[in-house]
Amino acid sequence: MKIKTIGILGSTGSIGESSLEVIRNFPDRFRVGFLAANRNVELLRKQVEQFRPRSVAVLDESAASHLKRVTNGAVHVAAGEDGLLELIERENVDVIISSFVGFAGLNPTIRAIEKGKTVALANKETLVVAGELITKLVREHGTTLLPIDSEHSAIIQCLAGEKTESISRLILTASGGPFLHLPKEEFDNVTVEQALRHPKWKMGNKITIDSATLMNKGLEVIEAHWLFNLPPDKIEVLIHPQSIIHSMVEFVDGSVKAQMSLPDMKLPIQYSLTYPDRVESACQRIDFSELGAMEFVKPDLEKFECLALAYRALSMGGTAPAILNAANEVAVELFLARKIRFSHIPAVVRKALAEVSHLLSCDLPSIVEADRKTRAYVRTLAPHLN
Ligand code: MG
Repeated sequence: MKIKTIGILGSTGSIGESSLEVIRNFPDRFRVGFLAANRNVELLRKQVEQFRPRSVAVLDESAASHLKRVTNGAVHVAAGEDGLLELIERENVDVIISSFVGFAGLNPTIRAIEKGKTVALANKETLVVAGELITKLVREHGTTLLPIDSEHSAIIQCLAGEKTESISRLILTASGGPFLHLPKEEFDNVTVEQALRHPKWKMGNKITIDSATLMNKGLEVIEAHWLFNLPPDKIEVLIHPQSIIHSMVEFVDGSVKAQMSLPDMKLPIQYSLTYPDRVESACQRIDFSELGAMEFVKPDLEKFECLALAYRALSMGGTAPAILNAANEVAVELFLARKIRFSHIPAVVRKALAEVSHLLSCDLPSIVEADRKTRAYVRTLAPHLN
């Protein structure tokens, strides 16, 4: 069996760490080619010792020099985004796991696709802001884009052996987050700690807040639109608090396929690395007799306005999803810094979609400009919210 060499963008984050765990479980299948992270030198150093990559890229320049010092020539260290892009250009890896958080994942993912690499995508923001561009590049460079997001992984698993024409709709499931049963009036007083306490998944801070507002599911609707080339009215969201079914596909004959497992990101990560094969894993199995009832409810779009705003941005098209994403990224950052309320997050995104002018063309410069303009707009807006 040929050993696959893997590059990880965002190795110190939650997905990065789970990916390394999967790689560690299969020393005869996978090897780390390079790692990239923002600035967590302590963890990077441990990862370098354990996985012995040829190179590491650190986006923060001073963290990069720090890592250079402490690793003392044991590994090549590249600094900054330019250093990372060069490294992607040079390193001979088979798969690149793209798991940076937010807009920062866009440029490196584009470079990986241009190099013809198979990309295992955990950074959904990349497809949200630049879905048209990314899918075009994937076609042009004849490469493969595999989702790590558990919902989209569930869908590709349901679609194995099926034709795209046979799909009648996708049903993305959502746990509903920690505030599924909290009355909307109380959203004003939600604390950062409450919002970070996700009932089912342990994830990074940004995505955990997105799960609490249901923006995460909105971003996933846009992601699904680009991955599976389906119109928004064929992509539905259903709340399923048990998080056992990770998504479903309904076919034209009325038959529905669902993919199930206990919630564990290592499963979709492993599937993206062994696709289309399946191999053994240590993931815990479902005991159906212990499972009890599975519930399904329609999402309340008034209470979770972010989900409705994501559908709106998708139907506006062009740079509107980039505006939605940038507004949300800044709003989440401000909420985590305790500068705005939880209930301000949808308000900020709604205002940005209405006020920041959007373009129908979605080439890279237009996307970057939409992102920049929206961030500036939200930063001026934020102090005036109450
Ligand atoms: Mg997901």
